Amino acid sequence: MRVPHSRRTAANMPTLSIVVPLYNEQDNVAPLLERIFAIAERLEGTPSYEVVLVNDGSTDRTLEQIRSELARRSNLVLVNLSRNFGHQIAASAGIEVAQGDAVVLMDGDLQDPPELIAAFIAKWREGFDVVYAVRRTRKGESPFKLLTARIFYRTIKRLTKVSIPVDTGDFRLMSRRVVDVLKRSPERHRFLRGMVSWVGFNQTGVDYDRDERLSGTTKYPLTKMFRFAIDGITSFSDVPLRFASYLGFISSLVAFIYALVVISYKLFSLKPPGYTPGWASTIVAVLFLGGVQLISLGILGEYIGRIYDEVKGRPLYLISDIERS
Ligand code: UDP
Ligand code: MG
Repeated sequence: MRVPHSRRTAANMPTLSIVVPLYNEQDNVAPLLERIFAIAERLEGTPSYEVVLVNDGSTDRTLEQIRSELARRSNLVLVNLSRNFGHQIAASAGIEVAQGDAVVLMDGDLQDPPELIAAFIAKWREGFDVVYAVRRTRKGESPFKLLTARIFYRTIKRLTKVSIPVDTGDFRLMSRRVVDVLKRSPERHRFLRGMVSWVGFNQTGVDYDRDERLSGTTKYPLTKMFRFAIDGITSFSDVPLRFASYLGFISSLVAFIYALVVISYKLFSLKPPGYTPGWASTIVAVLFLGGVQLISLGILGEYIGRIYDEVKGRPLYLISDIERS
């Protein structure tokens, strides 16, 4: 059914929106849509749907690919951002534009199998507000990525009070009321999976085996992965801030005990074994305290940088145009 945006009424609003952020995925666009549309046509209990593709400032032919699909398919929406804003923000832009009663977010490299959406819908119909996909296995990832991901999910679980499920990416279905909460959360260092967990309501997981990327290379090199991990931790935990004060407390305690030792040596005119007047202990104390102070300053800096970013209150993203078929 071809329904231009302006003529949509409550009755023919799409029930399901599938949102996909795309950054330099030119060879994945066509196969991705092929599989999404194949499954969307067969879904039970969703009379209408839309597929929202967000072009996150791609520098290859992704935009042209999307436009040519737009010309030959209906139910497709293109959200073209003004430049590259990053995965989490591109996903947020798509979620904002999506109109469905349920919104599915997935990657554009076919690592998230669209066929799982049927299982999502079934759970949603049972009354769950969030259905997330849990990776049972991950194909085609380097041992390094697997290890760092493992450490990351477990660290964040320990550091936050929000229960963020382990081994779960952003591939998930969210009900309209969850999406509306996300839309009202303007924070810019976005860690969507944490934000969705924070919302609460009824959430459940569905297991799946994560495929290899169809073509192209990962857009999450080590540096971005690291930033993402820091974003996740600082947005959902103040443990690192308190860690700074623990460090300070412990080092002052050590320094105090050491001072007592030094004073008693002086008082009783004793010479410790291997005595050379002063410098070793001085250097050790200075280095230790210097280290503690730098770590603490660094942690403060991380949070202050974030406060500064939030205070500026710039828009999260800029949409260059929206096209619908
Ligand atoms: N992505 C994006 N903007 C970016 C980086 C990535 O929209 O700046 C998209 C990318 O096209 C893909 C999804 O986010 O659809 C996940 O990225 P990727 O597959 O590179 O991450 P990985 O699976 O390696 O963690
Ligand atoms: Mg991927």
